[in-house]
Amino acid sequence: MNSADITTVKSILSQPQKIAIIPHKNPDGDAMGSCLALDAFLKGMGHSTQVIAPNDYPKFLKWMPGNDFVLNFEKENRQAKSFLEEATLIFTLDFNDLSRVGQMQTVLEDSTVDFIMIDHHQQPSDYAKVTYSDVTMSSTCEMVYNFIDFLGATESITKAIATNLYTGIMTDTGSFKYRSTSSKTHRVVAELIDKGAENMEIHRQVFDTNSPSRLHLLGVALSNMVILPEYKTAYITLTQEELDANGFKKGDTEGFVNYGLTLEDIIFALIFIENKEEGIIKISLRSIGDFSVNAFAREHFNGGGHDNAAGGRSDVSMEETVARFNEILKTYKSQLNK
Ligand code: 5GP
Ligand code: MN
Repeated sequence: MNSADITTVKSILSQPQKIAIIPHKNPDGDAMGSCLALDAFLKGMGHSTQVIAPNDYPKFLKWMPGNDFVLNFEKENRQAKSFLEEATLIFTLDFNDLSRVGQMQTVLEDSTVDFIMIDHHQQPSDYAKVTYSDVTMSSTCEMVYNFIDFLGATESITKAIATNLYTGIMTDTGSFKYRSTSSKTHRVVAELIDKGAENMEIHRQVFDTNSPSRLHLLGVALSNMVILPEYKTAYITLTQEELDANGFKKGDTEGFVNYGLTLEDIIFALIFIENKEEGIIKISLRSIGDFSVNAFAREHFNGGGHDNAAGGRSDVSMEETVARFNEILKTYKSQLNK
């Protein structure tokens, strides 16, 4: 954020505001962590605030401090809409295009109040009065820490704020191992531990609260994995039938896509997950090194994200989607073998 933006933010926040804080649809640890942390911080400044998630999110994030007060736009539509109608300021966190909030999109587009965006994805849209966008950042949570720092207010980081920020940095960096994890990230994380984040307990709450059915589903996913050494690619498919047979719950497939990248010499991994209700195949893409899955998802699967982690979708059947993918892959052979 440049100094003009910091001045603008300070001036806006010098008056009591009614603030809606919005993560992207299907929020992950970074989206919920950044929203809940900012919510607690702004409440501490005396503002009236409300986190509104576009839809539901997994159980492994529902222990986070402040979670009980989050509104779900799909389930608590009237309450959420009425807060948005009265809001004087809207923060959007961990996304940068209003198409990423599902059914909330038109409500946000119709709003006339100021927006502040904090996000680390590529190619931000131009809808905010203040756009704090930095694609080099590990996570939106690291940026919320910086945001609080820009306001000269790190002293007001409570245990709850530290816990939420730690959670988002941890989940978005694959537990501090992705390329975007900098020495600065580690310094921020160290600060957060000093401010009360219980790192071991947070790790356990997020990663070690599996249900037996999730592990069974992982077994199915791994046995469905197709490995294509000539393309340094591995992909997994999961049909709705397979999900149903294993008591699928939201979040159960989180992290499955990464198993492809644990294979030696594989640099491109995908998972195709059927969603009969939405009539789509949801695709998650991951890479190691210079192969940009953001570009791949944007170009072929109506999605995007980061260079090494992106998402997309397909509106045709699983069979057709996979056949299409295999055709497209042929044109990337040299790029994948550089
Ligand atoms: P995931 O595969 O975990 O759903 O998402 C990986 C990354 O890609 C996340 O940073 C997420 O925000 C982004 N992403 C996921 N799905 C989409 C999508 O449909 N469109 C765009 N632009 N980004 C996505
Ligand atoms: Mn993120």
